[in-house]
Amino acid sequence: MEKKNTKEQLKNPLTGYYTGGYKEQPQPSPGIQQKMQPRPDCGEESYEGHQRLAGRKALITGGDSGIGRAAAIAYAREGADIVLNYLPEEQCDAEEVASYIEKAGRKVFLIPGNLEDENFCCQLVEEANKKLGGLDILTLVAGYQKSVDDIEKIKTEDIKKTFTTNVFSLFWLIKAAIPYLPAGSSIITTSSIQAFQPNPDLLDYAATKAAIIAFTRGLGKQLASKGIRVNSVAPGPIWTPLQVTEAQPKGKLAHFGQSTPLQRAGQPVELAGTYVLLASNESSYTTAEVYGVTGGHHTN
Ligand code: NAD
Ligand code: MG
Repeated sequence: MEKKNTKEQLKNPLTGYYTGGYKEQPQPSPGIQQKMQPRPDCGEESYEGHQRLAGRKALITGGDSGIGRAAAIAYAREGADIVLNYLPEEQCDAEEVASYIEKAGRKVFLIPGNLEDENFCCQLVEEANKKLGGLDILTLVAGYQKSVDDIEKIKTEDIKKTFTTNVFSLFWLIKAAIPYLPAGSSIITTSSIQAFQPNPDLLDYAATKAAIIAFTRGLGKQLASKGIRVNSVAPGPIWTPLQVTEAQPKGKLAHFGQSTPLQRAGQPVELAGTYVLLASNESSYTTAEVYGVTGGHHTN
C-alpha cells in the first residue's frame, strides 16, 4: 500500500471510482468475483485501518466477495479477527479474502456452508464462537436475488429460496448467537434501496429487504436492554458478483447505477466505512437504524 500524505486527498464522488457501464458477463449464481471484468473494488489496495475494531471478533456472512469482502478487509485492517462464511463454490474468492486478512496480521477462519439450512446456521455460530474465542460482531451480508419480470412466472421454490436465504437465516443465526454476544456487541444486517423503491422485477427480493428493515428496527429495540445494537446497511446499486448472475434482466448492466444522483454504480469499498462505524463503539448511541449508501436515492 502506498504511503499517504498527512493531508487527506479530496475525492470527487462523481469521478473517484469507475463511471462507465458494464459488459454482460453472465455467471450462474453465486457469481465468482475473480471472473468479473472489471474486478469490483473491495478496498484490497486502498482501505486503511486505524485500529477502530482492535481485538474484536466478527462473523461475516457473504464474506468472500462484494460488500461482505469489503467489510472483511476493512474489519481486519481495523484489528478484528474474522470468521468468513460463503457457499462452497466460492472457495477461490474466500481464499483470496483470507490472504488479505492474514496480511493485515489478523486471524481468519473459513467456514463454507449453505445458510438455507437451519442446522448449518447454528453450527456456524457455535464454531465461529469457538474458533474466535468469543463473538461480538455479526455482520450478515449474504443474500440472494433473482429477476423475474412477471408474478405469474415466479416459482414457489425461488420465492422460498429468496426468503430463506435473506430473512430466515437472520433469525437462525442471531437466535444462535445471542447467548454468546456480550453487551457492546453489534449486529449489522444488509437490506437494500429495494425495500423503499422496489423494481417491478424483484418482488420477492424487495419484499425480503423490506422485511429485513422491520426485523432490524424491532430487534434493535428488543436487544437494547442487553446492550446489543442492531442496525442495517441499505446499499444502492453496487458492482458485485450478484449483479452478473440472474439478479438483473438482460441489458441492465450497460447503464448500471447511472440513474443515481452520483451517476454511477458504487464500489463495495464505498460501504466499508459504514460497516466499520456500525460495528465500532463510535456508534454507541445508534441502534434500530438504517444507513443508506445509495449514490443519492432516499432510504426512508
Ligand atoms: P455478492 O454476490 O458478492 O454477495 C452475496 C453473497 O451471499 C455471496 O458471496 C454468497 O457467499 C452469499 N450467499 C448467497 N446465498 C447464500 C446461501 N444460501 N448460503 C450462504 N451464503 C450465501 O453480492 P453483494 O452485492 O455484495 O451482496 C451482498 C448483500 O448486499 C446481499 O444481501 C445483497 O442483497 C445486498 N445488496 C446488494 C446490492 C448491490 O447492488 N450489489 C444492493 C443492495 C443490497
Ligand atoms: Mg460471492
